[in-house]
Amino acid sequence: MKTIEDLDVAGKRVFVRADLNVPLDGETITDDGRIRAVAPTIAKLLERGAKVVVASHLGRPKGEPDPKFSLAPVAERLGEILGKSVAFATDTVGESAAATVAALADGEVALLENLRFNAGETSKDDAERKAFAERLAVLADLYVGDGFGAVHRKHASVYDLPELLPHAAGDLIAAEVGVLKKLTEDVARPYVVVLGGAKVSDKLGVIDNLLKKADRILIGGGMAYTFLAAKGHEVGISLLQADQKPKCLEYLAEAEKRGVEFVLPVDVLVSAEFPDLKGKTPANPDTVAADAIPADKEGLDIGPKTRELYAAKLADAGTVFWNGPMGVFEHPDYANGTKAVAQALIDSSAFTVVGGGDSAAAVRTLGFDENAFGHISTGGGASLEYLEGKTLPGLAALED
Ligand code: ADP
Ligand code: MG
Repeated sequence: MKTIEDLDVAGKRVFVRADLNVPLDGETITDDGRIRAVAPTIAKLLERGAKVVVASHLGRPKGEPDPKFSLAPVAERLGEILGKSVAFATDTVGESAAATVAALADGEVALLENLRFNAGETSKDDAERKAFAERLAVLADLYVGDGFGAVHRKHASVYDLPELLPHAAGDLIAAEVGVLKKLTEDVARPYVVVLGGAKVSDKLGVIDNLLKKADRILIGGGMAYTFLAAKGHEVGISLLQADQKPKCLEYLAEAEKRGVEFVLPVDVLVSAEFPDLKGKTPANPDTVAADAIPADKEGLDIGPKTRELYAAKLADAGTVFWNGPMGVFEHPDYANGTKAVAQALIDSSAFTVVGGGDSAAAVRTLGFDENAFGHISTGGGASLEYLEGKTLPGLAALED
């Protein structure tokens, strides 16, 4: 895999596929970690006289423009971080993009509008994706892949475009892969994995492989309820992936067979409604045992006993990989589970890796010092799939 040092970029248009999928509250960026993480790569290319064309997705728009998911606020923030103005194209492969890129002088940078405003970006149809990649390729001479959070996606800008241009991996991808590699080689034990978050169907699959590697797996967040339901407990109106219950039972049996400690919450915070994330009006949740969730309530965080239990299960760890908040941490009444896990990681002497857009944002917005962790990865799904040993399309595409 080439690095950006291997590319002759002076005077060239360099397409940088970044992951600038940051959490937004309206048009306010609530955590700019992903922008800061890729900025050094962009700065380096600019210093060497490249015309840099940055592209990213944001959120999950449906293949057409949707102002809610505009990258315009990101262009501004990127400009502040780089200390130079970032030209913003109001489309991705249209007139604005062509004109914006054509106007770049050496050492200048532009950001294109959200890649996913185009159906071709995420299409499952190879030809449709390739056609979109060809339109992107017209905008650049060279390709740098540095959107680590998206490398597990077989998307046009991640997978098809590098095939059309001379390419290299950016510094962020190189650093991320370096750390994750460590977790697949000889890890210090006990190796504890903490899984939570909301993308249950995306993440359940990784457990299969983690069972072969980890000594202990702690489950929180939305994923916990599918396990509790599989064990026959009422989960009320909690996040539930009912079709995955048999899989959950298989995992529990497999964990037992392999001697992997598989830990589920023993108590949870519940409420009849999802909290107000904007006004943050007090949610006044109830604490109930994990096997006693009322039918009309929803589990939104792990409870106090589980916080203590998980902290104890993390205390003697040699290595920790954590992906996915323990609860709806965006609301202060449901942030304590996530805080407890973050604090336990800081308190342990283990090599700690936090992965995932929301998990990384959570530790920072909850006031933890990011330097107190071994590594904060910009990719959740990507790091999980890497640890699974899967071939990641966006990394495979960067090979020579
Ligand atoms: P990451 O980005 O770190 O991989 P996810 O995207 O999977 O994590 O999940 C993050 C989201 O999960 C957060 O927005 C959080 O509010 C949500 N979440 C956590 N626990 C629950 C729960 N019990 N019910 C609903 N949503 C939850
Ligand atoms: Mg997320």
